[in-house]
Amino acid sequence: MPEIVILTGAGLSAESGLGTFRDKDGLWTRYRLEDVATPQGFARDPARVHDFYNARRANCLNAAPNPAHFALARLSQHLGDDVLIVTQNIDNLLERAGARNVVHMHGELMRALCAQCGQRWDAPETMHATDPCPLCGAAAVRPDVVWFGEFPYHMDRIAGALADCALFVAVGTSGSVYPAAGFVQDAAMAGARTLELNLERSEIAADFDESRQGPASRLVPDWVDERLAARG
Ligand code: NAD
Repeated sequence: MPEIVILTGAGLSAESGLGTFRDKDGLWTRYRLEDVATPQGFARDPARVHDFYNARRANCLNAAPNPAHFALARLSQHLGDDVLIVTQNIDNLLERAGARNVVHMHGELMRALCAQCGQRWDAPETMHATDPCPLCGAAAVRPDVVWFGEFPYHMDRIAGALADCALFVAVGTSGSVYPAAGFVQDAAMAGARTLELNLERSEIAADFDESRQGPASRLVPDWVDERLAARG
């Protein structure tokens, strides 16, 4: 079981130019969550939802990992299975930085899912509502992301890790989307020390033993240096 569980949110990728959801210029100020991130929105207008994720995918392909992604990658390479990175982000910047042991609890922008037969495959750069599933042929393809009202992925693995870790660290997440927002309490209940690294105190900062404020590109490399120095 990992000694350290790291939960990351949109703030980790903000300095790579990928918008967060809830900040001042966040995506939710330009799109209605109900339209583009719910099964009902997809049923109403699949083309609009594909347009939204096609734009997110293009942004992601044009973006590069920032020093915070590289620092987490460095930590995961040094500590191996002693660290689990649980990300709410659907981008692939952690993997592109070389991070190991990453689980995408809200799915992945770069993967496609057939809503008819459950087949998964690498998403093309642009997806259309009329694209056929490569396995069953149904025109029911969707991005392999978890929408509001759907169950996050990998919850058994995450719950097991939280129940057993010694340190829980949340990076760049507002603490407004459950179940991820409750992970700090799960970890604390299991006896872990808890640390928040965020641009500002999050909505749930009081739940952490310690909260540090600043940009992830500075806070995360500093914290990783500290951890690796402490292990010698
Ligand atoms: P959020 O938008 O609710 O909160 C982002 C948090 O990051 C805020 O607390 C903000 O203060 C902080 N932040 C902003 N810039 C920062 C920086 N440079 N350094 C450190 N912290 C910074 O995002 P969330 O908590 O991840 O919300 C959850 C939902 O957002 C998830 O469902 C996730 O899938 C989705 N999301 C993902 C991406 C992505 O994949 N890159 C982008 C936007 C939203």
